[in-house]
Amino acid sequence: MDSEETPKPHAVFLPYPSQGHVTPMMRLAKLVHSRGFHITFVNTEFNHRRLIRSKGLEYVKGLPDFRFETIPDGLPPSDRDATQDIPALCDSTRKNCLAPFKELVLKLNSSESGVPLVTCIISDGFMSFTIKAGEELGIPEVQFWTASACGFLGYLYFTELIKRGIIPFKDESFKYDGTLETPISWIPGMKNIRLMDLPSFIRTTDITEIMFDYTGSQARNCLNSSAIIFNTFDELEHDVLEEITSKFPHIYNIGPLSLLERHLPESQFLSISSSLWKEDSKCLQWLDKREPNSVVYVNYGSMTTITEQQFNEFAWGLANSKHTFLWIVRPDVVMGDSIILPEEFFEETKDRGLLTTWCPQDKVLAHPSIGVYLTHCGWNSMLESVCAGVPIICWPFFAEQQTNCRYACTTWEIGVEVNEDVKRDEIEALVKEMMEGEKGKAARQKASEWKKKAVEATDIEGSSYKNFERLIKEALLIGE
Ligand code: UDP
Repeated sequence: MDSEETPKPHAVFLPYPSQGHVTPMMRLAKLVHSRGFHITFVNTEFNHRRLIRSKGLEYVKGLPDFRFETIPDGLPPSDRDATQDIPALCDSTRKNCLAPFKELVLKLNSSESGVPLVTCIISDGFMSFTIKAGEELGIPEVQFWTASACGFLGYLYFTELIKRGIIPFKDESFKYDGTLETPISWIPGMKNIRLMDLPSFIRTTDITEIMFDYTGSQARNCLNSSAIIFNTFDELEHDVLEEITSKFPHIYNIGPLSLLERHLPESQFLSISSSLWKEDSKCLQWLDKREPNSVVYVNYGSMTTITEQQFNEFAWGLANSKHTFLWIVRPDVVMGDSIILPEEFFEETKDRGLLTTWCPQDKVLAHPSIGVYLTHCGWNSMLESVCAGVPIICWPFFAEQQTNCRYACTTWEIGVEVNEDVKRDEIEALVKEMMEGEKGKAARQKASEWKKKAVEATDIEGSSYKNFERLIKEALLIGE
């Protein structure tokens, strides 16, 4: 660093260590970098090794003013190319990461580091121990909630569910006796919500369970930060965002980041995705040969695991629909790691089905051949679908995916829902309905309207673009 130059502001980014968090955090880091910040992007050692395997050593060398660093996640060492055990990882990060994170920031601030002094910390909302780190180190800190705002609001109401005596459930019968159908009309800002649409961790007889306790407390902790960033846009989640603002006014809705990114300068490094799996780009060439709106795209994201039986139901539902499909099957998606499909399945789908392990999803969704997306309703996937104007078939797996699904099927009218207990006939019928029927047509129309609004929000005069400007000036350049 030239001592004559004014040092750059320096932002340290810390994502929760899974793909659905690393991706939006990296998008935000690149945008902040484009505003003249020095960036330190902190992955866990485990994910850093995965990033090297998928993108190469050169990628993690970064740029002179965009560096990668690591901290341990506190779990036993492993070199698997798979998503880690989620409850174990959540518990471990909250118990073990504060000390190494603080040490890292102190190292960056030491005179030998050769980088500008850290001026702000941008932390994942699921890594809220950083609020304490910021306080102890005297560095401004903001939280980035990478999931939906409707999910966030749902998590904030976990304590109210306990107060009202709704949870913990007395026994497991709540799963089958219609309890989950109970309408919830007392959460301001949320319409058309049933108990089953709140984040799935409420389905418990034990409120000390890690995921219930962890997710609820992480959301509540965000309210102790100086600001919260959401990867959403004002119009998409208007009522929910108003309600959050009434509790905590310092929020910045700057999404969809995948569209805001189009304002980044051209750069080889900045154009590379932060995918932890190696992407199969050949599927794009396969899509090039398909008619517009003719392909069913199936992907359950980075964390979902399914049983062999569910896997077979999806397979035969797709086969029996007679439609063309691109099905992404992560090597670790089926519990027990056993994916065996019968010869007849491949015979039946040989000219119209492609299976692969991981794809550049935003490019796939933006491809004109995609007609519908069968999704687990992870927030990034939902937003990427909105950005591409693609309607969805929802099979929410866990967490706030249930809430996202409800909003997609009711408020946004871009999707239909698959029963939790997935059956091949239902998949076949829904695929046909969405590809050929009136419901599909209407959902496609709505999806293209939301796409237009998402583009407008991220235009230079749009709400998200302006909120991003405000974020930089009000929250990240404090004291500069
Ligand atoms: N993704 C991808 N290729 C795949 C599957 C997923 O690039 O084959 C990306 C996807 O585009 C999204 C992220 O991984 O940005 C998954 O995040 P999401 O919030 O949808 O779900 P999660 O994986 O957290 O359940």
